[in-house]
Amino acid sequence: CQLYSSAVAGGCERTLVAVKPDGVQRRLVGEIIKRFEQRGFTLVGLKLLQASEGILAEHYHDLRRKPFYPALLRYMAAGPVVAMVWEGHNVVQTSRAMVGDTDSSQAKPGTIRGDLSVHISRNVIHASDSVEGAEREISLWFHSGELISWETSDQSHLFQG
Ligand code: GDP
Ligand code: MG
Repeated sequence: CQLYSSAVAGGCERTLVAVKPDGVQRRLVGEIIKRFEQRGFTLVGLKLLQASEGILAEHYHDLRRKPFYPALLRYMAAGPVVAMVWEGHNVVQTSRAMVGDTDSSQAKPGTIRGDLSVHISRNVIHASDSVEGAEREISLWFHSGELISWETSDQSHLFQG
């Protein structure tokens, strides 16, 4: 990924993406991974886990006073999630665009939420919303030893630095 760090805005980043329990139940894991792979991002961490209340409370700390917060934590603990770290040029902003609006009913067709979900309460996927947030979330969900830095052979076809 350092290969193509350059003056172009965004630079090489990592972000946390999680397929939420509804997405896992609905067998959307493959579809979601496919979209990130085909866009040109590199998978550097992946696991299926039952999220603990502690990790979810930390993850959604900023939303703790929202009326939907208790239901959000129940939703996220209702079954396994697939947590992933994706790496690539400007991946934080681009993955938010791929995911679409938080409210699935407003999410544009072509986005993950706009194609695969209908309601804000079951919106199938999480993606970090800033580089700083991504760093915080990656260290919350993954140990450093679970992340693999590797070079893919297609870099020159994805990016000219
Ligand atoms: P995101 O970054 O697009 O996932 O959205 P937020 O960070 O604002 O909210 C986190 C998650 O909380 C969303 O993805 C939804 O799962 C849930 N959420 C946010 N707003 C609402 C709401 O108004 N109602 C319900 N039921 N869930 C919500
Ligand atoms: Mg968010």
